[in-house]
Amino acid sequence: MTAQPKYIILLGPPASGKGTQAAIIRDTLALPHVASGDLFRYNLRNQTELGLKAKTYMDRGALVPDDLTIAMVLDRLAQPDCAKGALLDGFPRTIAQAEALGVALAEQGRGINRVINILVPDEVLIARITGRRLCRTCGEPYHLLFKQPQVAGVCDLDGGELYQRDDDNEDTARNRLQVYWNQTSPLVAYYRERGLLVDLDGNCPIDQVTQALVAALADL
Ligand code: AMP
Ligand code: ZN
Repeated sequence: MTAQPKYIILLGPPASGKGTQAAIIRDTLALPHVASGDLFRYNLRNQTELGLKAKTYMDRGALVPDDLTIAMVLDRLAQPDCAKGALLDGFPRTIAQAEALGVALAEQGRGINRVINILVPDEVLIARITGRRLCRTCGEPYHLLFKQPQVAGVCDLDGGELYQRDDDNEDTARNRLQVYWNQTSPLVAYYRERGLLVDLDGNCPIDQVTQALVAALADL
């Protein structure tokens, strides 16, 4: 028997731990991790037209326009490995994106199974963002204080070089939080009204968040 496709959304402000948790649980869930920010960074590395367009927004901490973002993510969800569903991270970020996703899934007789709302206070987020480092090869996230690699500057998984994202400086971080509160936080009520939302305390150690997350998805 083939399992029903599952769509899980990780919602939460920048640096609330969406990417870190997704990387930990994607294998357990056997779902591909679809992160819109990673898709934009991939396009940028490959100097695609989409990547270059997106960069002007990303550098300011603004959202990339909905039409570009929606087309990119729906295209990713149409790839064969997403036939079983996806663990969505960083998408949707606006009501328009949520509506477009809902329509696209409904056309296939599918729908969102659960939305996890990760809660972390703003001051904690700023500290997390400015200390964040990523692997250039695999994108694995690290942190100068909270999640150090075994060897400074080197990825534990593949020896890749760790770097700081251009948009992980304090000014841009504050913009991104503002954008989150203005444009993305309305999704909390949107999904709560639809009975899909579960709140999760993201201001505790990584493994504790993972445990709570796994428990919040156990019945799916
Ligand atoms: P992230 O890696 O999720 O923090 O995303 C990095 C940047 O990519 C954001 O600050 C936005 O500029 C852009 N971005 C990622 N996901 C979206 C989205 N769903 N809608 C619009 N812009 C996005
Ligand atoms: Zn790596």
